[in-house]
Parts: sequence; structure tokens; C-alpha cells
Amino acid sequence: MGEMSEKTEGVMGPDYGIRAFQSQIESIYLGRDSKRGKEGSTLWFIEEVGELIRALRRGERENLEEEFADVFAWMSSLASIEGIDLAGVVLEKYGKGCPRCKETPCGCPE
Ligand SMILES: [Zn+2]
Repeated sequence: MGEMSEKTEGVMGPDYGIRAFQSQIESIYLGRDSKRGKEGSTLWFIEEVGELIRALRRGERENLEEEFADVFAWMSSLASIEGIDLAGVVLEKYGKGCPRCKETPCGCPE
């Protein structure tokens, strides 16, 4: 994991929740996911996204919660395989508001 940039100051602080989650997923799966590789893990991620979309369509609350957790876990694992610090990149991009207009809420024309 790279060091998070300190230049971003916004409403969001450093989100150690996201960092702790990514670290937890690495502890559980990174060895296995690294062996499977980017392509294999990407297929699993896409499959989980498909399941999330199905749950959204069906409006099954319990299943929906599970699928959000799975998609987040697989996205996190892919980020780790690529050496991306999720907490750092989301803070960098969205920590000061909309990346385009810099406002919160976004003031970009719809
Ligand atoms: Zn905007």
C-alpha cells in the first residue's frame, strides 16, 4: 500500500475504516487471489456485480446487503492485486467534493 497523500483536506478524514477493510480482505484472500491473478479475480468481481444487479432488481433486502459486501470485497481485492490503496484514492478524488466542480453537493449541469 502506498502512503496516502497528505495534501487532501476536506470533509472526509483519512478513512481507516476502508483501509482496515482492505487490510482484512488482504489477510483473508490476497495470497489466493494473487495466485489466481488479475483476470481470474476480475471474472469473479464481474460475477458478483451481476449478482448485485439481480438483487437490486428483485429488491431482496437481505441478499442485497450480502451482494454489496461481496462486490466491495472483490473490488478491494482487485485494488490490492494492483497495489492500490482504496482509502487513499477515494479521499484524493472525492475528499474535497465533486472532482469536476469542486462543490458539495455537486453543482455540475445535469
Ligand atoms: Zn460537480
